[in-house]
Amino acid sequence: MTPKLQQGRRNFLAGASAFVPFIYLSGCTSLPTGTKGLFSLGVASGEPTPNSCILWTRLAPFPLADGGMPPIAVDVAWTVSEDEKFTRVVRRGTAIARPEDAHSVHVDVKGLKPGRRYWYRFVADGEVSATGRTRTAPAPGSTPKQVRFAFASCQQYEHGYYVAHRHLAAEELDLVFFLGDYIYESSWGRPKVRSHGAGETFTLADYRNRYALYKSDTDLQAAHAAFPWLVTWDDHEVSNDYANDRGEHAIGPQFLARRAAAYKAFWEHMPLPMSMRPKGAALKLYRTFDYGKMARFLVLDDRQYRDYQACPQPGWIGGGRRVTDLMCPERLDPGRSLLGRRQEKWLESSLDSSSARWNIIAQQTMMAEMDWALRGPSLYSTDGWNGYPAARKRLLSYLDRRKPSNPLVVGGDIHMTTVSDLKPIFRSGLSPTVATEICGTSITSLGPRNLRRLERIRQNNPHMRFADGGHRGYVRVTLDRGKAIADLRGVADVRWPESDIATKAQFVIETGRPGAIIS
Ligand code: FE
Ligand code: CA
Repeated sequence: MTPKLQQGRRNFLAGASAFVPFIYLSGCTSLPTGTKGLFSLGVASGEPTPNSCILWTRLAPFPLADGGMPPIAVDVAWTVSEDEKFTRVVRRGTAIARPEDAHSVHVDVKGLKPGRRYWYRFVADGEVSATGRTRTAPAPGSTPKQVRFAFASCQQYEHGYYVAHRHLAAEELDLVFFLGDYIYESSWGRPKVRSHGAGETFTLADYRNRYALYKSDTDLQAAHAAFPWLVTWDDHEVSNDYANDRGEHAIGPQFLARRAAAYKAFWEHMPLPMSMRPKGAALKLYRTFDYGKMARFLVLDDRQYRDYQACPQPGWIGGGRRVTDLMCPERLDPGRSLLGRRQEKWLESSLDSSSARWNIIAQQTMMAEMDWALRGPSLYSTDGWNGYPAARKRLLSYLDRRKPSNPLVVGGDIHMTTVSDLKPIFRSGLSPTVATEICGTSITSLGPRNLRRLERIRQNNPHMRFADGGHRGYVRVTLDRGKAIADLRGVADVRWPESDIATKAQFVIETGRPGAIIS
């Protein structure tokens, strides 16, 4: 072992001891002989900085049956190399997979070089995991020629195969964003090509098994193993349309117990650090990542701290719906917040302090105004930013006033692709376009049925420059000093696992000129 490696291991153990009263040493960690398939859920990396990243795996020989591990802590050795064959190993250590964390492992690897590819793998009980590949962020102050990323969301397992993930894994990217609805807590929609095999998730065991089902898909595993991911969540990681401590039919401590279980399982299955391990029903997920002077990524959480949706369905405790202003004047209340005031302030100061050419706001729901009515009074959905127009105007007016460099908002949730000009006042020709929004389609989740109607709705919302509900896939973005090129990558048919992928539309955003050029 080189002195560097010893240092790394010491640091890891020092960090680990803060979380548990005992460190289990090798020798206490024997598994029943013949336990195989420990790495059935694959490997992942995330949270890339110029000198560190998080490596993730979970030991789960029987993934759909609570993992199938005995209730003991198990040593998991990890190795990071500069080459795929592991001849130039630069870091190694041992992490501990603990039963209380579903035998998940979250290794914070430090001392890496910036802007560089690494390969990693794990060993437990003599078994070797798949090899993952990751990449650190560029050095602070450097200007990389390009930054390439993709963003994806909404992967209802029953609605299709993860063809898009297989193609995503073959792209050339620096990182991937997953913007929410990684799992779905319940079944809905038709046709179904495969089954959850279980009902709605409520308990920690339910959520763990649901993540295990989704993560047992080898195409999803391939996409995780190919790039570092930055993740946030939307509603279905907990329950449909939840807001803060309120679900559609539950409130307060009862709902928070469910949220705590859901957040814990989310953390257990994502490449997130030990330091983000949830405390009860709280997990701080909003954060920034810098890619040299090219990009600052601002990852938001618009579920945990929001005000409740205005005007839920009669008889329901919470949840979204479409309303007119006459039905629901409360929607317009200037005091309402989607991010919570603390996160709003944090977002403003993180934009202010950014010296990056591009400021990418990565979040879960559509930001642009969208009036769903084709005739009669305007009809707005209460669940996304359209339910919180005053908060949206605060943010967009801030962009207008402070003019951070090239803001680009990326989102998910709506299972279709929309490209919009973001303006403080959407229906005013005098209000400037202050940012561009690209809301990406779903990986599999069912999109809108009536595509013609969608196009007519788009035409009624003139700041919406593009809307496509017909493709499942993801959006690939290349940032350079002069422009961002975004490609809508759509698969032929998610019901067919061998489907091809193709670029279905391209959006170009030039620096200094918010609003996309569409081709
Ligand atoms: Fe969704
Ligand atoms: Ca959603």
